[in-house]
Amino acid sequence: MLILRCPYCGVDVDETDLHAGGQAHLTREGPGSSDADFEDYLFMRENPKGVHFERWRHAYGCGKWFHAARCTVSLEVFGTYPAQTLRPPEELCDRIAAKRPGWSWGRGE
Ligand SMILES: [Zn+2]
Repeated sequence: MLILRCPYCGVDVDETDLHAGGQAHLTREGPGSSDADFEDYLFMRENPKGVHFERWRHAYGCGKWFHAARCTVSLEVFGTYPAQTLRPPEELCDRIAAKRPGWSWGRGE
């Protein structure tokens, strides 16, 4: 079972108390964007074998959205952080890079 720490409550939460929100850090496209950019925003998602950044909501707790970084192969959770960020915290990226040599933020893996 997936267990994530809610960064707001500070408690470890089973996935049954969470709601998955898909890929984190999407660039939102709206009026004025091209049809191709809007289509990519609506339908295109990464599906990496490895490090993935996801949105989760502590649905049966505080109700807040947060982000989680985990490995899609081993299910190892690298960390969670509040959703009001444009990119993961630097210390989290450093921690992932230490465990996954060659990995860096924004490489799409
Ligand atoms: Zn919470």
